[in-house]
Parts: sequence; C-alpha cells; structure tokens
Amino acid sequence: MKIVIFLVLYLSINAYMLRNRKDQIKQQKILQIRETIKNPHSPLYHSSYNQLTYYVDTFGPRMWGSEDMADSVDALVEEIQSYGFDRVWKENLGEITSWKRGEESVTLFDPRQYPQKLNMIGLGWSPAGTIKAEVEVVHSFEELKSIDVKGKIVCFNYEWKGYSSGLQFRINGPKIAEDAGAIGTIIRSVASVSISSPHTGMTNYQDIKYPAVAITVEDADMIDRMRQRGQKVVIEIKTGGIQYKTTSDNILAEIRGSKYPNQILLMGGHWDSWDVGSQTGANDDGAGVLVCLEALKVLKHLGIRPKRTIRFIAWSGEEMGMANNGAQYYAKTHSQENHIVAFESDFGSTQPYGFGVTAGEKFTDFVISLAQEYLTEIGVEKIYPNAGMSADSGALRSVTGTPVLNNKVVDNDIHDFYFTYHHSAGDSIWMMNADDMDDNVIAIASIMYLIADYDGLIPTN
Ligand SMILES: [Zn+2]
Repeated sequence: MKIVIFLVLYLSINAYMLRNRKDQIKQQKILQIRETIKNPHSPLYHSSYNQLTYYVDTFGPRMWGSEDMADSVDALVEEIQSYGFDRVWKENLGEITSWKRGEESVTLFDPRQYPQKLNMIGLGWSPAGTIKAEVEVVHSFEELKSIDVKGKIVCFNYEWKGYSSGLQFRINGPKIAEDAGAIGTIIRSVASVSISSPHTGMTNYQDIKYPAVAITVEDADMIDRMRQRGQKVVIEIKTGGIQYKTTSDNILAEIRGSKYPNQILLMGGHWDSWDVGSQTGANDDGAGVLVCLEALKVLKHLGIRPKRTIRFIAWSGEEMGMANNGAQYYAKTHSQENHIVAFESDFGSTQPYGFGVTAGEKFTDFVISLAQEYLTEIGVEKIYPNAGMSADSGALRSVTGTPVLNNKVVDNDIHDFYFTYHHSAGDSIWMMNADDMDDNVIAIASIMYLIADYDGLIPTN
C-alpha cells in the first residue's frame, strides 16, 4: 500500500514538474522572441518597418490588380523565398475586374467669382463623367427626403462620430441621392481629423450613373455655411475612372507543424491599398502584412517549429471588397483544411496591448488562459471577447466557422488616430513607428506560437 501511495505521489510530482518545465520553456521562447526583435544589434530589429519603407518607396500604392501591385507581389515573394520557410507560394485569383482612377476634379463656381479647385478624391468605382450643377447640402438621409434635389448635386455633410457615421454616406449616399433625383454626389471625407485631406473608399457603385467623390472636411463645412447663408453654390465634378480586366495573387508562406501539420493557424493582412498619395498603403495595410510576415520570420530565425502549421497570407483585394477578392478566394479554395484560428492585422500598427477574439466560449476561454499565463510579461495579455473580426479573416470564418483574432493597438475608442490617415495621402511612412511595429511582431509571433505549440486539444469554437 505504501508503495502505491509513494508511486502515485512520485508520478504526480513528476508530471507537475514536467508541466512546469514546459511552461518555463514557453515563457523563455516568448522572451527570446522579444529579445531578438528589440535588440538593436539583431538583424530583425526594426526589420518590418525597414521592409515597409522599401516596398512603399519603391512600388508606391498597390491598387487591386494594378501593375504596381503585381510587381510588389513578385518582389515580396522573391524575398520571402530567401527566408527558408518550408513553403512559399502565390495563388492566382483568375480573371478579375478592377477599377482605375482617371483625371478627376471638383471646381467651385458660384458663389466665387473665379473658379476654385477643391481638394478631392473620387470614390472607388465611381463612373466617369462631367457634371455641373447647383449643390444642396444634407446632413442625414432623413433630411434628404425633405429637400428637392432633382437635377442637383447632393453634398452629404454629417457629424463625425466614428467610422460608421461617415461610412453609410460613402457606401449608400450616391445611390440614395440619385434615387432622389440628384445627378452627382459629394461626401464629406470619412475622417476624424483633416488637414484639407480627401479620403477615398468604396461606394455602392452598381446602380449609380453619376460621379461620386469625396471632398475635405473643411470644404464640406464651407459649402454647408454657404448654403445656410442662402448663397447659391455651383460645382463642376469631373471623374474618369474605368473598369478593366486583370488578375492578382494572394501570397502564402508557412512553417509546417512538427506534430499536427494539418492543423493550420493563418495570419496576415491585405497587401492591396488605395491610391490617393505617393505612399498610400503604408499603414493600411502594408504594415499589417509585414508585421505578420516578420512574426513568422522570427520563429524561423529562432529555430522554433511548433506542433501545428503557421501559415502567413497577404490577401489581395480587401479595399474594393469584390466577391472574388483574395479573402473570398482563400475561404473558398481552402475551406476543407483544418483551420485552428485566423489572425488579421488591419487596424494599424501602433503599440499593441492585447487581442480581440471572435469565437465560441471555449476557444475564447482558451485564448484568455494562454494570455494570462504567458503574455503579461510582454504587456499584451488583455483579451477582448467578440472583438476579433476583420474583413479578410472574416471571409474564412463565414465559410468555415474558424475562430478569428486581431491585435488591439493604442487608439481612442473610435479609432480617431487610424481614421486621421485612412485612405488618404497621409497614410505614409511618416506616420509609422518602427518600435511600435516591432512590438506588434512580438505580440503576434507570441500568440501564434502559443496556440500552435499547445499540447492539448484546442477547442474548435
Ligand atoms: Zn485595410
């Protein structure tokens, strides 16, 4: 009897110590990841930032299906091939229809004596055309119903209360204005802060015939003041966008799992961008792509091969959001694979402090327990349930039910920092911070490693 008690005690102490040692190894690996990224003498120090500057400076904006996009994809693939991952490949989306901007302008005539060009940007997929008409300003769809806008241009000037307060006008404004008889639409740029910067983005283009453009916050307010004074406002809008057939690729790379190679953790961002300025797409979402790529790179650099496969992806075509974009293509063609989780970084790369997770209770609790155990030391242990959705990982989730994660980064509640620069020429290297990007690499590499190397069964939702 004594021997049995002794044996049980011995085995349980042993199991406890083994578990403790495993925990310590995991904690050590996370500290190694941090040390490798934060050490100024490491080749990975500021590496994602330096990559970003190279791609932004060399290739410029990366509109979906454009030659700049294709060239930057090829260059990035070639570079990733030198990292020594188990597999690097492209997946072609087949023939796609994309859109490119042409010559465009907004000119204010009345009440000015001399024509005044206004800073502007056409909305994505706006049809080409030239119109000159009187302008009516409205502040809501409700107000639009009470004003006669037949044969006029409607200018939507709303109050900024976060992205959705403006997004509804950018997406649905042109169609609703045309249905009310308008022959053109201007929206106040969807932006939290402005230094006379126009911000573009997609509009619901299918059923519109007339130009749809954004002007600056400052000029939307000016036109609003003019109308409130009873001044007649006449504006000419010119747009020249065209649709064209082209193609594009997703980029993928992976470290195969040592024990469960068929269990896949996906992580990435979207490589395509808008085209407003010379560097648009640095923050949205070149940085998101490159911090994820760097996360895979640091694991490889440290010789870490977790039990499950970690797959990097640079999705193609998030901005235009078409039904056959990279995220939809991936979700469709990889739906039979066993995805454990899909992580996406597309809300900026300022200082990270935790993760959003959208999944069932079990997976959410699983992430919370990992974070509490291992991520406190690197300051990213806060987990936000039901806050992990992003556009591209969401496409996979909607097909397969895969849990999704994203990184939570410093900003206010309505992301005013992010939306100061979003879809404008201000989205540039100037607003990026190398140390913050490094912190995102550490956070992402750590959470992905912890999940990928977990010893037990991982809840599927
Ligand atoms: Zn984005």
